Amino acid sequence: PLGRKVLIIYAHQEPKSLNGSLKDAAVEELGKQGCSVTVSDLYAMQFEPRATRNDIVGCLHNSEEFNYGVEAREAYKRGDLSDDLIEEQKKVQEADLLIFQFPLYWFSMPAIMKGWMDRVLVEGFAHKFPDCYSSGLLKNKLALFSFTTGGSKEMYTKGSISGDIRYLLWPMQHGIMHYCGVKVLAPHICFAPEYVSEEKRKEMLLAWAQRLKALWKEEPINCSPEWYFK
Ligand code: FAD
Ligand code: ZN
Repeated sequence: PLGRKVLIIYAHQEPKSLNGSLKDAAVEELGKQGCSVTVSDLYAMQFEPRATRNDIVGCLHNSEEFNYGVEAREAYKRGDLSDDLIEEQKKVQEADLLIFQFPLYWFSMPAIMKGWMDRVLVEGFAHKFPDCYSSGLLKNKLALFSFTTGGSKEMYTKGSISGDIRYLLWPMQHGIMHYCGVKVLAPHICFAPEYVSEEKRKEMLLAWAQRLKALWKEEPINCSPEWYFK
């Protein structure tokens, strides 16, 4: 729909990768719909994943003993976070939907994307206890985890060697996004793109574009323990 704002947080080193193609497909399809799409291309930006005192400009709240969470929270209040963080927070603030596009690394997101979570979702901006989960500060936004794997779909089923793929979505979907009040759409998973035919990969890209056509009609998933672990 016209005017919807989408932020794609994208973590792949190679534009020609399947992740790159999935990102491009989303930019194209959402653009066609009249959405305004912004991409944070983390590797191209050389995004800093480390949470350090460099994130705080000017004086520390407590210069005797450094506490990253406290310092980030206080710096956010003063408007003293580093420019790259202020920039990302502005993009998040403006977005209706966050799409995370990445290859699965060790049952999780690549470190550069985890660093984005660690540094951008600052207390006071994204959450502020007890304003978490349904009252998290980013409520009214949606998130969608779109990722690729090395393992096949069969490996990622309950009772199989890797277990239900949903087990590993728990920290990302519930622990991070839902914690910040963001509602979660069903994940989009392309299994083992390196081990399927060129034709199958083309189908994967078409399926993603197809899903995006009807995306705004989707209801968020019930982001609860039962959904993941039943
Ligand atoms: P690519 O290799 O880039 O894509 C596959 C092929 O698609 C390429 O040949 C590319 O040219 C082609 N392609 C690109 N665009 C198109 C297009 N438009 N049409 C047709 N073909 C196209 N996997 C797991 O399952 N679990 C793990 O825990 C895990 N941990 C990992 C940890 C590390 C550190 C690393 C490096 C990998 C890990 N993996 C794991 C594997 C990883 O998830 C996969 O290698 C990755 O998801 C594949 O996605 P890609 O985009 O990199 O694929
Ligand atoms: Zn949840």
